[in-house]
Amino acid sequence: MPKYVYDFTEGNKDLKDLLGGKGANLAEMTNLGLPVPPGFTITTEACRSFLSDGVLPPGLEEEIGEHLTALEKQVGRRLGQADDPLLVSVRSGAKFSMPGMMETVLNIGLNDESVHGLAKQAGGNERFAWDSYRRLIQMFGKTVQGIDGELFDDAFEELKNGRGDLDLDAAELRGLVETFKGIVRAETGRDFPADPREQLRMAVMAVFESWNAPRAILYRRQERIPADLGTAVNVCTMVFGNCGMDSGTGVAFTRDPGTGRQGVYGDYLQNAQGEDVVAGIRNTMPLQELETIDKTSYDELMRIMEKLENHYRDLCDIEFTIETGKLWMLQTRVGKRTAGAAFRIAVQLVDQGLIDLDEAITRVTGDQLAQLMFPRFAKDESRTRVTKGMNASPGAAVGKAVFSSERAAELAARGEDVILVRRETNPDDLAGMIAARGILTSRGGKTSHAAVVARGMGKTCVCGAEELEVSTKERRFTAPGGVEVAEGDVISIDGSTGEVFLGEVPVVASPVVEYFEGADDTEDELVQAVHRLMTHADAVRRLRVRANADNAEDAARARRFGAQGIGLCRTEHMFLGERRQLVEDLVLATTDEERERALAALEPLQKADFTEIFQAMDGLPVTVRLIDPPLHEFLPDYTELSVKVALAGEQATDKDRRLLAAVKRLHEQNPMLGLRGVRLGLVIPGLFAMQVRAIAEAAKAVPGARAEIMIPLVGAVQELEQVRDEAGRILAETGVDALVGTMIEVPRAALTAGQIAEAAQFFSFGTNDLTQMTWGFSRDDVEAAFFSKYLDLGVFGVSPFETLDRDGVGRLVRIAAEEGRRTRPDLKLGICGEHGGDPDSIHFCHEVGLDYVSCSPFRIPVARLEAGRAALTGTGSDTR
Ligand code: ADP
Ligand code: MG
Ligand code: MG
Repeated sequence: MPKYVYDFTEGNKDLKDLLGGKGANLAEMTNLGLPVPPGFTITTEACRSFLSDGVLPPGLEEEIGEHLTALEKQVGRRLGQADDPLLVSVRSGAKFSMPGMMETVLNIGLNDESVHGLAKQAGGNERFAWDSYRRLIQMFGKTVQGIDGELFDDAFEELKNGRGDLDLDAAELRGLVETFKGIVRAETGRDFPADPREQLRMAVMAVFESWNAPRAILYRRQERIPADLGTAVNVCTMVFGNCGMDSGTGVAFTRDPGTGRQGVYGDYLQNAQGEDVVAGIRNTMPLQELETIDKTSYDELMRIMEKLENHYRDLCDIEFTIETGKLWMLQTRVGKRTAGAAFRIAVQLVDQGLIDLDEAITRVTGDQLAQLMFPRFAKDESRTRVTKGMNASPGAAVGKAVFSSERAAELAARGEDVILVRRETNPDDLAGMIAARGILTSRGGKTSHAAVVARGMGKTCVCGAEELEVSTKERRFTAPGGVEVAEGDVISIDGSTGEVFLGEVPVVASPVVEYFEGADDTEDELVQAVHRLMTHADAVRRLRVRANADNAEDAARARRFGAQGIGLCRTEHMFLGERRQLVEDLVLATTDEERERALAALEPLQKADFTEIFQAMDGLPVTVRLIDPPLHEFLPDYTELSVKVALAGEQATDKDRRLLAAVKRLHEQNPMLGLRGVRLGLVIPGLFAMQVRAIAEAAKAVPGARAEIMIPLVGAVQELEQVRDEAGRILAETGVDALVGTMIEVPRAALTAGQIAEAAQFFSFGTNDLTQMTWGFSRDDVEAAFFSKYLDLGVFGVSPFETLDRDGVGRLVRIAAEEGRRTRPDLKLGICGEHGGDPDSIHFCHEVGLDYVSCSPFRIPVARLEAGRAALTGTGSDTR
């Protein structure tokens, strides 16, 4: 039988899979000798077993019993003991932090008897004891028994009647406990469970079950956390921040999670317990002020934070409580941070000698870099600033103000940009937060729910804009100076400065983009950090990075961003615009002569296009893909043309009639699987030859040009041989040296790669088509039709168009790479689907030994960084 329960002294920080992040770090702190209230952790394995079987695994209750007995011995009190009770908290904690997503119950062990024992422990502090008791019933009722929390909140509000929570005396709180017990009775038909062990058992099961609460499921999907991990449960001796003004509870970061700057960042609340700090029931004080209230605890806290930073060699966030002047550590973890802070902190830690550059680039991600490349607001003098809150999560967001999660989701579904405005957010707002461009709250600090969740999602957030009066009911907010913003009014929020503006403020490029563009403003601390980490990533990566670029402008940008070539230059746009005319001529040609004339007219235009690109790339390789889409894509729309011809009647031109006939003839049921790619090249004589000649002539005209000719949609080596032979003749005629290779995007090509490599000098994986054809669905049809359902059902955790499906599509890539190289050891391998810019897929490409990835110009820095990270972190590394 597995061991299901670990004492805090038995675990360590590397056991997150088993003990969850919270449990593993509580153990780590315990073993560091920090003041952690004693307790134990029930493993995620027990949770998984419970969730799959519906009952606690055999032996678990006995094991919990043994650990509880040991804990009781250690503390010298029994759980819920009437005259001198031990109380515990029951806390969820999964491998990845899911702030506020799952449940925690405090003060387990209180009942009508032990409440008096608790008062006695606290020197006769009745108020404290009853406050703790009412909290237990409230939390237990809501999270364990599933009672609507508003019933408790409303009763509480009614009793307070405008007063603060601290104004209630012991008698009133005692009355509140009776009221709460009444609510429990009315809602469940049973009395509040008085037996402490029963409370504990129920709470443990509720935490297990909270893993599958709808909001937890939604959060996991958003954050790409696997659905089958389960949560651990931590049972922790209670310490009390609510037993007077010399007690309190707080949260802190070891550095600013927004900028990375070192200093004291945190919030503290006197005479309060647990969630009070983040829930915003009273205004918190900045952590610095603790120094004047309780210098001993403050100094100890500072020492502990320093110790934690040095130990974890990273920014940590912590939760702590002070009980009558004694400091207790209740949680720590490597803290979430903004993208900019991640880069700054990584470099700061290098400079402090805590980590080396190799480790530093594993501390930042491509997604974070992508965020830093977002545009920001222009410093436009005419813009109207409404107020300034806290800069909780950077970015520039513009949208219509909405005041509820539902509205946010509704408008966003219609394609509108919205800003979710709330007094404060809670886990029920998650859907709206995901739907919104940005989040604005009037209450709560940088550690509030809104701030933490937004940072995690990389979403712009301004919080604690206290000047705003937000009315959810009236769907409006007011600001000083008589400003009123109603639902639907456009506002702009700046998560980097905390500013809020009326209307739409124009945006400008980020300094990081300007740096990539070649600006030599190295003053900016962030730019410097990016520069150092990018330089190191370039030095360690094995994968080369190329760009998908179809014109000289994109090619030039790609080079500035660090592209080492073009991996995909599509030629189809070269047939658009005014040149459609020529495609029409080609399609309508009835004789060889007419066709050749049409092609001859296209050739110089193509040559000019390629010449510009070769020039822009200045000797770097350029992979040109011969025309891929079906020709009807270049012809007028069937319906429009029919109407035009019908309306014109007798007057319809001969050309229009012939075009209509051609459109009809070329119409396809499944264009994706129709007459396209190499098939076109083989069916229309001279089409590919014209393109190859244009490429060769252009390459000849540009000294040093390196052309690679790529044939799309090949499924059989016989197709490729024909084209290769023809291309070979033309290249020989022009005296140009160019590689001829193929895309691997049809499953058959991957499966016969050994043969295909006989005729191909390189492979480039077209993973968009390969994904469509491997799964047997067309992207345009399925994404809207059922992808969200599939994500809900867990068929896939992420769309296979976003992240390469390693098991299926990836298997084909692996087979093709291996068998292709067996035939031709110097076969060049690359990828040019959109996956080339996706972090996880880039790691996969590194693993299977591709030579390069190719992606859109803007993703190139991301690909460079991830290629470096892949080289350092090896297989299966975490790209989150
Ligand atoms: P979350 O995962 O939402 O952060 P926690 O399990 O950390 O939930 O609990 C929330 C808060 O409850 C903690 O920050 C702490 O203030 C309080 N808390 C939890 N356990 C204890 C305890 N044993 N003693 C005192 N306070 C506790
Ligand atoms: Mg916590
Ligand atoms: Mg394709």
